[in-house]
Amino acid sequence: MSADRLVIAIDGPSGSGKSSAAKGVARALGLAYLDTGAMYRAVTWAMQDAGVDPSDRDAVIAATQRAELEISLDPDTAWVRVNGHDVTDAIREPGISATVSVVATLPECRADLVDRQRAIIDAAPAGIVAEGRDITTVVAPDADVRLLLTADPEIRMARRKAELGEKVDAAQLADQVLRRDADDSTLVNFTTAADGVTHLDGTYLTLEGTIQAILALVDAAR
Ligand code: C5P
Repeated sequence: MSADRLVIAIDGPSGSGKSSAAKGVARALGLAYLDTGAMYRAVTWAMQDAGVDPSDRDAVIAATQRAELEISLDPDTAWVRVNGHDVTDAIREPGISATVSVVATLPECRADLVDRQRAIIDAAPAGIVAEGRDITTVVAPDADVRLLLTADPEIRMARRKAELGEKVDAAQLADQVLRRDADDSTLVNFTTAADGVTHLDGTYLTLEGTIQAILALVDAAR
């Protein structure tokens, strides 16, 4: 581990609590925070904004490569811009969640976003907590601490429901959690921990308990 920088990689399925836990850890340690899912979502928004047909592979890849992305690295202030549009709220709409796997399952789109994510991680002066699906394995396999955070499907659905409230019905909720995980896992394995990655089951942990467990792993790695 470098004396002056700390990189923490957290992966996990939808609703595992990784975003809230990653932000809490970043706050506690004074690190930047990167929500890589927001990057996939913002590209999906740009693709829809440009009227790209999701089944037109070349057009989806071109829209991804053209997308000018800016993202907050402050765990207390979330914002995302794509091609000059503030899409912070728009990328959380069910229409984006329903389509984002199109971008996430094209290797060319992943390669493009992985490059951008690595550049962001490398440029964070004090270090960063980055979360997603492939951070521990592809984006930052050399991170100082690598963690897979999971939770039982019922708990993950309940957490998403609490986040999204009346915006989603039961079918949309299942689509957002179970169908999306199934599609997302065609290219990336985020259900079993790779070698050297610690598996933390957060099913019975509170958010604070999860953050404390991750901070203990960081202490052990120092
Ligand atoms: O984490 P979140 O649910 O916001 O991620 C949105 C989508 O972005 C995921 O469903 C997945 O398709 C994609 N994603 C990914 N790799 C990452 C982060 C997110 O494929 N590292």
